Amino acid sequence: MSLLVEPAPFASFEELEREALACTKCPLATQGRTQVVFGDGDPHADLVFVGEGPGAEEDKQGIPFVGRAGQLLTQLIESIGLERKQVYIANVVKCRPPGNRDPLPDEIESCQPYLAAQLTFIEPKVVVTLGNFATKLLLETKEGITKLRGREFPFGSAAVLIPTLHPAAVLRGGGTTLAQVRADFVLVKRALQRARA
Ligand code: URA
Repeated sequence: MSLLVEPAPFASFEELEREALACTKCPLATQGRTQVVFGDGDPHADLVFVGEGPGAEEDKQGIPFVGRAGQLLTQLIESIGLERKQVYIANVVKCRPPGNRDPLPDEIESCQPYLAAQLTFIEPKVVVTLGNFATKLLLETKEGITKLRGREFPFGSAAVLIPTLHPAAVLRGGGTTLAQVRADFVLVKRALQRARA
């Protein structure tokens, strides 16, 4: 089923956030999460980033992308002339997987109505998926991120989706991956300019 076809019925963004913050639908609720990390930024943003899931620092603060990978993401956002508070940042799963393991298929499935509803309410013009999990979920593909990054895909009726490498992979991978992500962000900037023109 396409993520955007049947978003869960929430009356408002606030109700959606309230329900997500109290969620106990999957095992991550009882596997050591401190809190649900719903999302951060402007719920009317033209640009939305979707990561994988909260890490230790995000779990502690309740805000996505505030650890080392988050600092890099914030720099990349600023590199295209935006402030972090002008975009919206969310994750595929809203609770920290123990030990930062990959989210499991059942966990992703339980959590996906929240992400679908976030995207439905926000109605972004450009969606950037960070890494494999977000890209595979939103593009409904098994193709890996290295093949898909740096290209534009139609998303829903009015948006484009641009996959790029996860900032944590950039931190592991050094100069080549950083150059690739910087190039992808230039594409994001252009897509945004085009969508706003
Ligand atoms: N990595 C993610 O995918 N999301 C976060 O919020 C932090 C690190």
